[in-house]
Amino acid sequence: MAVTEAQVIELLRRIKGPDLESNIVDLGLVSEILLKDGRVYFSITVPPERANELEPLRQAAEKMVSDLAGVAGVTAVLTADVVAGSRTSGASTGTQTRSGGGAPEHPRVSQARSGMQGANGKGAAPGQQPARPAPAGVPGVRHLIAVASGKGGVGKSTTAVNLALGFKALGLKAGLLDADIYGPSQPKLLGLSGQPDVVEGKTLKPMEGYGLKVMSMGFMVDEATPVIWRGPMVVQALNQMLRDVAWGDLDVLVIDMPPGTGDVQLTMAQQVPLSGVVIVSTPQDLALIDARKGLNMFKKVDIPVLGIIENMSQFICPKCGERTDIFGHGGAKEEAIKLDIAYLGGVPLDMEIRSSSDAGKPITALQPESLLAQVFVEIAAKTWSELEASEGTRAEPPELEIADDGGSLKITFDDGHAAQLSAEMLRVMSPSAEVQGHSEAQRVTVGGKKDVTIKELSGIGNYAVRITFSDGHNTGLYTWSYLNELAEEKDERWAAYLAELKEKGLTR
Ligand code: ADP
Repeated sequence: MAVTEAQVIELLRRIKGPDLESNIVDLGLVSEILLKDGRVYFSITVPPERANELEPLRQAAEKMVSDLAGVAGVTAVLTADVVAGSRTSGASTGTQTRSGGGAPEHPRVSQARSGMQGANGKGAAPGQQPARPAPAGVPGVRHLIAVASGKGGVGKSTTAVNLALGFKALGLKAGLLDADIYGPSQPKLLGLSGQPDVVEGKTLKPMEGYGLKVMSMGFMVDEATPVIWRGPMVVQALNQMLRDVAWGDLDVLVIDMPPGTGDVQLTMAQQVPLSGVVIVSTPQDLALIDARKGLNMFKKVDIPVLGIIENMSQFICPKCGERTDIFGHGGAKEEAIKLDIAYLGGVPLDMEIRSSSDAGKPITALQPESLLAQVFVEIAAKTWSELEASEGTRAEPPELEIADDGGSLKITFDDGHAAQLSAEMLRVMSPSAEVQGHSEAQRVTVGGKKDVTIKELSGIGNYAVRITFSDGHNTGLYTWSYLNELAEEKDERWAAYLAELKEKGLTR
């Protein structure tokens, strides 16, 4: 029989808390219980300075639950709530705060309290946005985006990797940090194995997969034996993966969060200088309710919610192409509208996604022309646009006009400045993976496009345009910022292209 959360909680009530009087459940120290394939995951909140001393408590809790019939394994971790005086201290009063009964206050309670007072704990006027205490940034990394879900199994990790590859396909420098400590899956999804090299001292060099810089706890510990990893605190591990890794220059680092919206996720989110969070949800009602919980969690700590991605939104029959709304398509979209957040797009349920993931060959990188890859690239473009909107840097759509019988594109930007780019230049500098490859070394120099023309422009929301050329190429998604870059650096880029052609013995 499947184990239930109630059974686990009942057992954990037998474990005495650090005060040696009441039990850890009644003290409010146990996080949400996550059950996945017979495995049980939970965290116990302890004051950070007592983490080592309380290791036996963790072990006892783990042992207690593993004896339960039907439990295949247990992972209990000690987490530290943020303590006054540390970087994000304002957001929470910490585990050391005592409520009336003398028990440590549960972080969720502290959180709700700080939400009421304003996240900086000083109190905000009604309707006034509380200031978010900003954790230190990661040098060289422009934006950190978390991918979260209300629960496991909704395709969060699959979405995270394809979103990162989607950013890559838009010409952005992207990385992926697998912070799903319960089940790091990015090494498998990207077909990566081995361990990262140490560059200097304790700094690690991220691994590289399909042009993404990647770091995962999965590189550090054997998936089957998460033992080594249990001891250190979750947040500490996250901070190490974030700050002791030579990420280099990145436009965006996508963080695959652990599933769920409990204290672990909350603490992690607060420790990281997030530019925003993306929520992945399946269309089922239940998942939507969970997603809403997730949204509230991030809203409470004042992290911009960039939007919701609906995964497994519909089934497209591989034989006849017919679309079936197995779960009731559109639920997430309606929900997003209701909650006043952006709907970033829907990813169909498709066996190609599963099989390519299983094989470590992510679809966005390896089948860039496929419909599914395009779905992810469009989601990435929309996410980027939401990010720009949340920082107040989003450009209004320019006016686009095909000129010279398709020989060029006239662009009038929102601020009035105009540019004209040749179809040839746009074609050979397409941001598509076909042209850009997975790394600088793989980038293709496209020659022989002197006579190419623009056949069609199709707007992708109000953040990018897809250009179809006379040679059939149509997988490049040109964001406004990319068009602006091309316009601003027109002469240098064109000269560099001509030099490259010459060097490679190619002609226009
Ligand atoms: P999570 O990170 O939310 O636990 P995963 O990304 O690991 O979820 O996905 C769970 C399973 O569902 C994996 O086997 C994955 O290949 C599959 N999957 C995810 N998204 C899709 C999809 N759109 N179509 C088909 N299979 C999917």
